[in-house]
Amino acid sequence: MSYDDDNIFAKILRGEIPCKKVAEDEHTLAFEDINPLRAVHVLVIPKGPYVDWRDFAATASADEQAAFTCMIAHVADLTGIAEGGYRVASNIGRDGGQEVPHLHMHVLGGEPVGPLVARG
Ligand code: 5GP
Repeated sequence: MSYDDDNIFAKILRGEIPCKKVAEDEHTLAFEDINPLRAVHVLVIPKGPYVDWRDFAATASADEQAAFTCMIAHVADLTGIAEGGYRVASNIGRDGGQEVPHLHMHVLGGEPVGPLVARG
């Protein structure tokens, strides 16, 4: 899948749509999900134009990949969920239920998150 410059996260990165920023570095942005599913629900995205993990793993620099990983831990500390525990999840493609075609990690916590997926 090629990258769509008009996806909603690309617009957030360009400042065309506002977001509630949690943290940012040279390569990565973290912001609150507009429709939070738990008390803390933060999205972590690379600033580069990556659709999914395959794309990111194949073409992102080592610095970008390291920044993305470290930002998740940083967000957990900033939001106070590191101690109690949290979930990091990424929906990829059709079967994964990915709605926005820009790689993102959901960081969920602040209360029990529940089963990884519903049975059935
Ligand atoms: P996906 O289903 O692709 O894994 O998750 C996309 C996430 O993006 C959803 O949790 C949805 O609530 C969130 N989202 C969609 N549009 C916006 C927006 O304009 N701003 C923010 N902050 N989050 C959004």
